[in-house]
Amino acid sequence: MSLQEIKNRIARAEQAAGRPEGAVTLIAVSKVQPNDRIKAVLEQGHRVFGENRVQEAAGKWPAFKERFSGVELHLIGPLQTNKARQAMELVDAIHSVDRPKLANSLARLAQELGHCPDLFIQVNTGEEEQKAGIMPAEADGFIAECRALDLPVRGLMCIPPVEEEPALHFALLAKIAARNGLDGLSMGMSGDFETAIALGATHVRVGSAIFGERTTAAG
Ligand SMILES: *Cc1c(COP(=O)(O)O)cnc(C)c1O
Repeated sequence: MSLQEIKNRIARAEQAAGRPEGAVTLIAVSKVQPNDRIKAVLEQGHRVFGENRVQEAAGKWPAFKERFSGVELHLIGPLQTNKARQAMELVDAIHSVDRPKLANSLARLAQELGHCPDLFIQVNTGEEEQKAGIMPAEADGFIAECRALDLPVRGLMCIPPVEEEPALHFALLAKIAARNGLDGLSMGMSGDFETAIALGATHVRVGSAIFGERTTAAG
């Protein structure tokens, strides 16, 4: 599928949901994709990309940023506190804020660096043991904690369990966001971004549908 087709599908989903055109930001998830595929998407004018590892992003994006202006990078994978500084210097948004220790590191670094990327708090809506994210029951408290640290909390993010109906998880995330006065919702991937848009997604993270299947495993 091409970038243009995905954009058309997003526009149709926005319209079907009665949402304004452009309400949804498409994050093209370029993790483990070959550089020539990424370059092709940049050459079509797209500028918003997602990576799930700091190391990998640091390896390939500085060169792309030199060649293409206006690139916006989103970190969508788990972040270790010892990589937080590097992440903050490299990316424009972090979608995986999921624990007090990380929030505290980010707050300290934001003070020191004088800037902070937009932050999304990841919620483990499926309460899966192996998955990152704050538990739904702890989300309100953690959001308040991040705000008390003066962190720029832009919204919430989730990755639904593979075997479950994603709509239930998107609806739960939207509900937690609404009761906390947050309007950013990072939800929806290649297989379910239209459902996510119907339920209020502001940021969809689409990888394989744009770039083709990933040939190596990605976390
Ligand atoms: C890889 C990844 C995506 C994109 O997945 P696709 O199914 O290829 O669209 C979205 N979000 C996160 C957090 C990812 O790690």
